[in-house]
Amino acid sequence: MHWADVIADELIKSCDKPLIATGISPTGIIHVGSLREAITGESVRSAVEAKGASARLIYLIDSYDPLRRRYEFLPESFEEYPGMPISDIPCPCGKHDNYAHHFIQPFLDAAESLNVKCEIIWTHELYRQGKFEKAVDLCLRNHEEIARILREVSGKDEGKGSPPYNPRCERCGRFAAPVLETYSYPTVEYRCKCGHRGVDDIREGKGKLQWRLEWPAKWLIFGTSAEPFGKDHASAGGSYDSGKRIAREIYGIEPPYPIPYEFVQLKEGKSRKQMHKSAGGSVSGVEALGMLPPEVLNYFFLRVNPGRAIDFDSELGVLDLADEYDRMERAYFSGDFTEAEEGGVRAYEIAQHNRVPASLPFQVPCRHLVNVVQMSDSFEGAMEVIGRTEDLSKASPEDLERLRRRMDCVRYWLDGFAPESVKFKVHPQMPEGLSLSAEEKAFFKDLSGRVGGMEWNPESIGSAISEAGKASPIGSKGAYKAIYSVLIGKASGPRLGPFLAGMDRAFVEERLRRASE
Ligand SMILES: [Zn+2]
Ligand SMILES: [Zn+2]
Repeated sequence: MHWADVIADELIKSCDKPLIATGISPTGIIHVGSLREAITGESVRSAVEAKGASARLIYLIDSYDPLRRRYEFLPESFEEYPGMPISDIPCPCGKHDNYAHHFIQPFLDAAESLNVKCEIIWTHELYRQGKFEKAVDLCLRNHEEIARILREVSGKDEGKGSPPYNPRCERCGRFAAPVLETYSYPTVEYRCKCGHRGVDDIREGKGKLQWRLEWPAKWLIFGTSAEPFGKDHASAGGSYDSGKRIAREIYGIEPPYPIPYEFVQLKEGKSRKQMHKSAGGSVSGVEALGMLPPEVLNYFFLRVNPGRAIDFDSELGVLDLADEYDRMERAYFSGDFTEAEEGGVRAYEIAQHNRVPASLPFQVPCRHLVNVVQMSDSFEGAMEVIGRTEDLSKASPEDLERLRRRMDCVRYWLDGFAPESVKFKVHPQMPEGLSLSAEEKAFFKDLSGRVGGMEWNPESIGSAISEAGKASPIGSKGAYKAIYSVLIGKASGPRLGPFLAGMDRAFVEERLRRASE
């Protein structure tokens, strides 16, 4: 059984309307790995839905977290903000409501195009609405017991540790140290680094719980049934361990079903250094969505258990992934697959988020699309190329739309991530300065004669080339090389049969004839 189904069954057994929570701290650029959390959450949600139950998916943005320091990508003027909540810091570009909004917006766009059906919740608004008041009161009342729990879980005697709750200084806007002994609902005194001393009223929702208490407080607020989270939180003594005890012993609730997931690593390719689009040597969620259609990216995360680390290979791995996806799609519709492929086929199905196409979509292999988009400048031109080898009358309007999206992804990939080996440009004229040997010219003369009267399809073109090559002293290898040199000015390129079959026949015949002169 697929892991999303296993979790869905568990949730349906234990609650009426499961609530799945996901979240993120938007303090900087969001890496492709962060999509794993959203996609994992959405997959469990849609697996519950597919079983006839309803489920809610919420996406919590940690917008009340303080900025830790001025990161390198921030202007110097941001030196004054560390210690302040990111919901109150201006956006670096001037176009967004605040700092948190600036970094989360591309991610929200990505989630939308991934068809993740989540409710967006901003933590700073929860505080403002007083949603944390009960948890803050419990934490301030029980601060000694909490300190003991945190010491026991971490196994470290950290002295007093960080306070459970930080009031917000009314003078400088930073989070300040509480004087815990002064707590008497609803007020607590505080001392700020700026020198100010004041009194905080927890009903106003200005202060903030420390992370290890805030996380389970969200379970208390929402009644969370399941939550995916990065494996760093899942380690022994980590924040899920402490969260479980805080939930039971302080808040009096049961912790959610944990779905710890491993990180996504970037596979370093040879041409990685040439990548111009990427910041800081990683692929952002937005870039991953630029090069892969959403359903394929969903599949990428669904094909393996969340507990397994995965490599994201932004070079040829992107094509392998698209090929695998297409294979699982064919298997799903034919019903013909092995036991080992069962998980992959179900992953394909879940990747559609309960909107599986009615019949097998019209498929064009991604590797072929890589060639096609380099042989034309427009979608119409590309369709003309495809139409020379495929029967397009079988393609529905949805199929064409899908092809258009795939081609956009392929172009984006070619532009910023593809290795040089797959790139080419068909020369409209004979490449200048090219000198062919007498044997090569003779080969082209022979080949021109062979292709003259035959059918124009990948197989017959392929065998004509191989026969002409064998009959010539330049051999098959020399034949391929010579053809690439007169068409694209390179020594290698796409497989010749389909490549030439996709081109205008008169254009190819003319080029072969010119090469023989
Ligand atoms: Zn901005
Ligand atoms: Zn202050």
